Amino acid sequence: MVGDPPPTLAVLLAHPAGHSLSPAMHGAAFAAAGIAGRYEAWDVAPEALPAALERLRQSPTLLGANVTVPHKETVLRLLDALTPEAERLGAVNTIVRRDDRLLGHNTDAIGLAAALAGLARPPGPGRAVVLGAGGAARAAVAVLLQAGCSVRVHNRTHPRAEALAAAMRHVGTVVAIGAEALREAIAEADWLVNTTSVGMHGGPPGSPVPEGVLPASGAVIDLVYRPRPTPLLAAAAAAGLETQDGVAMLVHQGAASFTAWTGREAPLAAMFGAVERALSAATA
Ligand code: NAP
Repeated sequence: MVGDPPPTLAVLLAHPAGHSLSPAMHGAAFAAAGIAGRYEAWDVAPEALPAALERLRQSPTLLGANVTVPHKETVLRLLDALTPEAERLGAVNTIVRRDDRLLGHNTDAIGLAAALAGLARPPGPGRAVVLGAGGAARAAVAVLLQAGCSVRVHNRTHPRAEALAAAMRHVGTVVAIGAEALREAIAEADWLVNTTSVGMHGGPPGSPVPEGVLPASGAVIDLVYRPRPTPLLAAAAAAGLETQDGVAMLVHQGAASFTAWTGREAPLAAMFGAVERALSAATA
């Protein structure tokens, strides 16, 4: 008897989908793990998301999907179940297909935690400043609070920073700060994490902090990974501070997706290599 073909396909649901590094990263992961898998980027407009989800549910060859802008929150109500992490963060970046059920995961926090663990001084008791109050900021605040940091959140739209701080206060010490308190908070910070899109290729230009405003001795982390370095990380490196860009988080969140789909440890070196090559090719 001929059964369903084995699951070999993973897809990205995004809009637009053209500039994603995920196809290169996951293609390399499948190859290194000896899985005859394919990873396709699907450009799905918001109104087409329900139909795309139904297509995934009906695809016996599907391992799962990644979800990114603008679907990370709207996809929640279209799934059959959520992990506690996805529920807590209110966003899904990974879907796992089990039989014809679609399960929503969020690997952003675990990916960022793994990336920050690679710093010379990983987050622990101390002071952190998070710039931004969107989806990535939520994951960053959760990770830093769980590590024992006290966190100050600053955002262009201050009420969003206040709402984020209020939502995370049950995890640890977190307050929203306005522009007037930013310089001092950053100067004292052990970890400064930019989660805004400022400085991103094709996004708002420049640095998310005023010129000359940097931690006195802490590490500076920018979740943006294009360009390399970002204006913020260039300034931090010039000041002699430790820096980390968004590549480490990108690869570690992708590795957690790979494990959720396949049940196997992700081939991290192959994934880092593919992302580095794709970024170099894009700037060559
Ligand atoms: P999001 O939910 O849309 O949030 C965007 C944030 O950027 C908001 O806080 C927004 O402030 C702020 N912002 C946008 N334009 C700004 C401007 N001109 N000046 C000041 N602040 C501005 O996006 P997200 O999903 O959190 O992603 C944010 C960034 O993180 C993106 O660059 C994304 O590529 C990156 N990211 C990286 C990884 C990784 O694996 N490395 C993972 C996730 C996200 P307002 O609230 O005022 O609009």
